[in-house]
Amino acid sequence: MAEKRISSKKTNKKSLPLPPKKVGRGNGCALYKKCGGCQLQNMSYDEQLSFKQVKAIKNLGRFGHVEEIIGMENPVHYRNKVQAAFGWRNGRIISGVYQSSTHNIIPVDECLLEDKLADSIIVTVRKMLPKYKLTSYNEDTGKGFLRHVLVKRSFHTGQIMVVLVSGTPLFPKKDEFVKELLSKHEEITSVIHNINGAKTSLVLGEKETVLYGDGYIEDILCGKRFRISAKSFYQINPTQTEVLYGLAVDFAGLTGKERVLDAYCGTGTIGIVASDKAKEIIGVELNEQAVRDAKVNAKLNNTENIRFFAADAGKFMVEAARAKEKFDLVFMDPPRAGSDLNFLKSLVTLAPEKVVYISCNVETQARDLTFLCKNGYRVKKIQPVDMFPHTNHVECACLLTRK
Ligand code: SAH
Repeated sequence: MAEKRISSKKTNKKSLPLPPKKVGRGNGCALYKKCGGCQLQNMSYDEQLSFKQVKAIKNLGRFGHVEEIIGMENPVHYRNKVQAAFGWRNGRIISGVYQSSTHNIIPVDECLLEDKLADSIIVTVRKMLPKYKLTSYNEDTGKGFLRHVLVKRSFHTGQIMVVLVSGTPLFPKKDEFVKELLSKHEEITSVIHNINGAKTSLVLGEKETVLYGDGYIEDILCGKRFRISAKSFYQINPTQTEVLYGLAVDFAGLTGKERVLDAYCGTGTIGIVASDKAKEIIGVELNEQAVRDAKVNAKLNNTENIRFFAADAGKFMVEAARAKEKFDLVFMDPPRAGSDLNFLKSLVTLAPEKVVYISCNVETQARDLTFLCKNGYRVKKIQPVDMFPHTNHVECACLLTRK
């Protein structure tokens, strides 16, 4: 398993593999000051890991020992999902990322975090636009065409989805456009046209048409197969996701007899990965498209002991508590805002023996752990994982058991 551990107390550099040359101080990115997407580019990777370890200890140390953060062996080009915003500058179409907290586009052709092939497909699309008399979309005037390009790639199966997001619906010569794109990148397995004319910071709009292929890609994680559509959430760092899910299943310590809840389950990944070791799994997720994907994913893996519900996890838990449902274990993996009080109170009422809490925000995780520890639980294990090298995000898996 490609991983790298570092201690908060001592940085024993001798026993650690050296970071790849490009990832020294400055990290080889000329744009990091302008872009702002990588908050920690001024640090070497070892320093970043120490910084994250300290952040995890500051937030979670009061609940117990924080294990050494698991870093990446090769912390570059790890992103399997890349999106670029399109705009117009000095008479030319540009593509890149929004400067942090603005709608000002910083032109980017190659990014240290992003999949190289995905980056090159985006550049190809940009270069093709003038030939088809297509321009970039102007958010202020509502005129023009291309607003974003989103590329998702499976590192395991090689499948690639390209989503062309336009601000206006008309896509003249789309068949020719797709044909040329495919001739330049034979690796592409699906092309989607998504329309988003709304004044919004969301990349994707409601309406989408599949122009080529199935409209989804499939990836393999922890030996299981997953279908990913344009809109559903999928972890963006597959190498570390396998580490994280492996930990979650390890923490769960399942014996085959348990009834398990996978809350905030996305496309059902954690539940499906754990399904061989449990009696029954229920997944709950708010995003209906993700739930549809989750059901397909269960079929793809011949997983018969799992069911999914499209619902707010908090409301679902209140109902489950009212119906006196019994769960032996709850996996919870909420978004950055953490869980809500409805969820946490009902979790305490349902009183599963174990809770595995995965979070991408140690601050809200600490808040939720405080509630759970006041209400019958103790934290047994705290394991940070570096899912997002060069950014300041810290992912952490915690195991809680009933006191
Ligand atoms: N466990 C999944 C997804 C984690 S991301 C994985 O590892 O891939 C968090 C998920 O919570 C997202 O899929 C999001 O759509 C979902 N979500 C956000 N708010 C929710 C809510 N109130 N109730 C249920 N699910 C919610």
